[in-house]
Amino acid sequence: MNDTTPDFPRPPVLFCDFDGTITLSDNIVAVMKHFNPPGWEEIVREIIADTKSVKQGVGEMFALFPSSMKDEIKQYILSSAGIRPGFAELLSWCRAHDVPFYVTSGGIDFFVHPLLAPYGIPSDHIYCNGSDFSGDSIRITWPHDCDDYCDNRGRCGMCKTAVIRRFPEDRYYRILIGDSVTDFPGAKIVDLVFSRSHLTDKCRELGLPHLPFETFHDVIHHLEQGGLRS
Ligand SMILES: [Mg+2]
Ligand SMILES: [Zn+2]
Repeated sequence: MNDTTPDFPRPPVLFCDFDGTITLSDNIVAVMKHFNPPGWEEIVREIIADTKSVKQGVGEMFALFPSSMKDEIKQYILSSAGIRPGFAELLSWCRAHDVPFYVTSGGIDFFVHPLLAPYGIPSDHIYCNGSDFSGDSIRITWPHDCDDYCDNRGRCGMCKTAVIRRFPEDRYYRILIGDSVTDFPGAKIVDLVFSRSHLTDKCRELGLPHLPFETFHDVIHHLEQGGLRS
């Protein structure tokens, strides 16, 4: 870190959600609403009611599409998804201050990587689910499944807490940026949460250290001030 780096107790590392955080809305929900494959709404209801895991539900929703629709789905997301203001500036801030930035996304590689391509994030700093188009229908793969320490054992799909645990809490000041249900487990184990939407409510409810934000300019401002010390 250089000498203009704000004063954190340990070197900060950022873990940033993708859908509804880097992008303005949830891309999986947008795809389902747009193409409307029969059965998706029931799956979403079950995920929200937690009678079905995120992993199982996301797998089932994409299996509603033939593999031949890959490019159509990707093009729809690329043309409709908006990026939250200040994202490029936050990445520049991280580079200038040698702060590692990781994308921790429950989204799928075939749209996450193309959407992030303009921003120059190293691909090994982007965690998301995989996809296989060799069969009749789209099959989601899970290269970053839960580790043995995840309370949510095997239900995450892309296990955010497993990624966070690779950065020991005694060596790093761990910061999560997110908006929703898949960010709840990670929010409980980090030092600071930048929150939007449902995640703000959850942090309030559980008394977790958090700073609500709307744009990434807000995040930069708080980082400049040293997080919660501002
Ligand atoms: Mg999200
Ligand atoms: Zn997990």
